[in-house]
Amino acid sequence: MANEINHFQEIISHCKEYGYIFQSSELYDGLSAVYDYGQMGAQLKKNLRDEWWKSMTQMHDNIVGIDAAIFMHPTVWKASGHVDNFSDPMIDNKDSNKRYRVDHLIEAHAETLGKIEADALIAEMDKLLSSDDLAGLKNLIESNKIKCGISKTSNWTDVRQFNLMFSTQIGSVAEEADTIYLRPETAQGIFVNFLNVQKTGRMKIPFGIAQTGKAFRNEIVARQFIFRMREFEQMEMQFFVRPGTQMEWYNYWKDARKKWHESIGIPSEKLRYHDHIKLAHYADAALDIEFEFPFGWKELEGIHSRTDFDLSQHAKFSKKKIQYFDNDLNTEGKPYGNYTPYVLETSVGLDRLFLTVISLAYQEENWTKEDGTEDSRVVMKIPAKIAPIKLAILPLLKKDGLPEIASELMNQCKSKFHCFYEEKDAIGKRYRRMDAIGTPFCVTIDHQTKEDNTVTIRYRDTMIQERINMNDVLNVVSNAIV
Ligand code: ATP
Repeated sequence: MANEINHFQEIISHCKEYGYIFQSSELYDGLSAVYDYGQMGAQLKKNLRDEWWKSMTQMHDNIVGIDAAIFMHPTVWKASGHVDNFSDPMIDNKDSNKRYRVDHLIEAHAETLGKIEADALIAEMDKLLSSDDLAGLKNLIESNKIKCGISKTSNWTDVRQFNLMFSTQIGSVAEEADTIYLRPETAQGIFVNFLNVQKTGRMKIPFGIAQTGKAFRNEIVARQFIFRMREFEQMEMQFFVRPGTQMEWYNYWKDARKKWHESIGIPSEKLRYHDHIKLAHYADAALDIEFEFPFGWKELEGIHSRTDFDLSQHAKFSKKKIQYFDNDLNTEGKPYGNYTPYVLETSVGLDRLFLTVISLAYQEENWTKEDGTEDSRVVMKIPAKIAPIKLAILPLLKKDGLPEIASELMNQCKSKFHCFYEEKDAIGKRYRRMDAIGTPFCVTIDHQTKEDNTVTIRYRDTMIQERINMNDVLNVVSNAIV
């Protein structure tokens, strides 16, 4: 385990060093569980988002995409159940009246302990949190004699639930302003637009609505880098079907989503299904697609059969009819008529997908060279089609007309895919930097290029180098990234 943790720490440091991910507001010592994507990270994230969007909307003629606002009418969250049920535990000190989130209180205490005791305490806390054992959490606080920082007493209330939604005010005059929430999931923006999209798009059931966008949760256990963040991005698709056909579609999406992860280079043996035993009250089937992260098997994507719960709730709270008129025939030859469609949801966290990709890609390689000396490199083997930069164009020297030829190649390729131009440092050093960033192809322009128009192309994963005609570079790279 220690090895896995070190490996994970190395990935985190690497992400920072090569412009993938920075702690948010690092200049001010950071904001916990919030991260910024740097120049490489933003591009990789966009490539993953684009792949998902294409697979949903372009590759399915019955799925369309929308972009709903983050702010929504507050009643949406009443109808969805988030106001009443979307919560985590907290506790008050009776003497100081100070309120603590249970995990913050226990974590602060853990910092005063030695490493072994602290790890054991945090592990116990995580176990109790994940089983919603509120009495157990209170016992843990009392048995560890954890005190309030203000009253210095252990006179605690029972542990209660704390809502994870961030709220804010809308309206310019404070007294008249309404409380609204930052959305904790993108799904509700789809449900409230069901009729708009169905009618304007003349969509026929079965059909889906896809959306990507930010979601916000005031997470209590916010650790493990971008695995659990307070601001993150979701890619969700709600698929509307006839009641009674939901299991068929559940199985379809279960299979289709796993295959999609494999199509972007995640090996099948690193993915598994985890069926939910305890179902949410609105679901009639649910599972997670789990990935083996460096810290264990964890949820990457959720597939949920949500019945007609969401549309019925919005019909009830908005007092509007949200139904679909199905004029196709059923097997008995009768029209289906009006009904509330059932919903299959696929919901994947873009940041978790990003973490999946980089934890697979990051590799440290050591080997013995022909002359017997040791060599090593850190390489990000990101599949070419999602790598942030596809091609590095490297003139061997900064003179003799080589940069001019390199610029020519750059102009040929840059409208087709992302290229990177570099003329500083020895060529070996430049290759290593491209390995560390994850650039799948490097092309070096040297004096021979001037004579026969050939260049050296170097493949990141094998480090094999070969000479090809400069006119073929565009095709070689284009073919590898489709
Ligand atoms: P978990 O059990 O890990 O808290 P969840 O079951 O609450 O996740 P869902 O509400 O089903 O998650 O959200 C769908 C997807 O959104 C998850 O599979 C995950 O990829 C992503 N996600 C949820 N919460 C976070 C978060 N705090 N940070 C990053 N991604 C998240």
